[in-house]
Amino acid sequence: MEIFKEIAPLKAFLKEKATSAVGLVPTMGALHAGHLSLIEASKKENTLTVCSVFVNPAQFNNPLDLEKYPRTWEPDCRLLANAGCDVVFAPEVSTMYEQESIVTFDFGTLDKILEGQFRPGHFSGVALVVSKLFHIVNPTTAYFGQKDFQQFKIIEKLVAELKFNLTLKRMPIIREADGLAMSSRNRRLNEAERVHAALLYRSLCEAKKLLLRGEKIENVKEVVHKNFDALAHLKLEYFEWADTENLMPANSVSANTVLLIAAYVGEVRLIDNLLMHAN
Ligand code: AMP
Repeated sequence: MEIFKEIAPLKAFLKEKATSAVGLVPTMGALHAGHLSLIEASKKENTLTVCSVFVNPAQFNNPLDLEKYPRTWEPDCRLLANAGCDVVFAPEVSTMYEQESIVTFDFGTLDKILEGQFRPGHFSGVALVVSKLFHIVNPTTAYFGQKDFQQFKIIEKLVAELKFNLTLKRMPIIREADGLAMSSRNRRLNEAERVHAALLYRSLCEAKKLLLRGEKIENVKEVVHKNFDALAHLKLEYFEWADTENLMPANSVSANTVLLIAAYVGEVRLIDNLLMHAN
């Protein structure tokens, strides 16, 4: 496995390889089985897989979240090597942002709703770093997780608007045994919080079941809010349902509806989602 910290040597390496199919898996490190499922998918479909490991300051609206974000470089390298990843790109902040960036992205309503309401500037920072990575690696296919559903929609728009010549793949959410969506932030949960964190997925499943039974959306929302109100150190930020195409609030629930949730468990903010037509 080749490890690059600088852009020019990585580009030279990729040029020399001149392989027909390069898969890119952008991550912020602190890797888990969710990330590795993206590597696995890329390996199946490409001759070369590049994983970027970069905690992107531009997408953190909360400085404490950036400071506390887990960084586990050595175990990450071992996991990537074992997974058969070919190339790791792990730049310093100064390499990706030579000067403070003045470029911002505006995705209209798409980056103002849901996560955007609680994390202003977040998706602009995501779009900025993902654009840089696409330019540097020039992948054939880039792999992202459904776990960050809104992020995927933003990147879809970015690719379409800026005419990046690549295919995007959205991969399913990998979960712990109790349903909690795997996340680097789960490492920050203490034992009790870790147990309670499963409430996000349990609530999504309960909501889906009630909606499939024909329960009114307003009543379902109340059930989910009550679930969270019952636990003092959990704070629900939103539970919403939206159209999978444009993420606009759905008038009625259909196969094209996605249920989305965000909540604080102690100090840790977690998100999850569930498609009405699948897991
Ligand atoms: P992150 O390191 O959190 O920025 O995530 C890097 C990529 O892994 C993103 O495309 C995420 O959506 C994806 N990812 C994170 N958690 C999971 C998971 N539990 N299952 C599948 N993909 C995930």
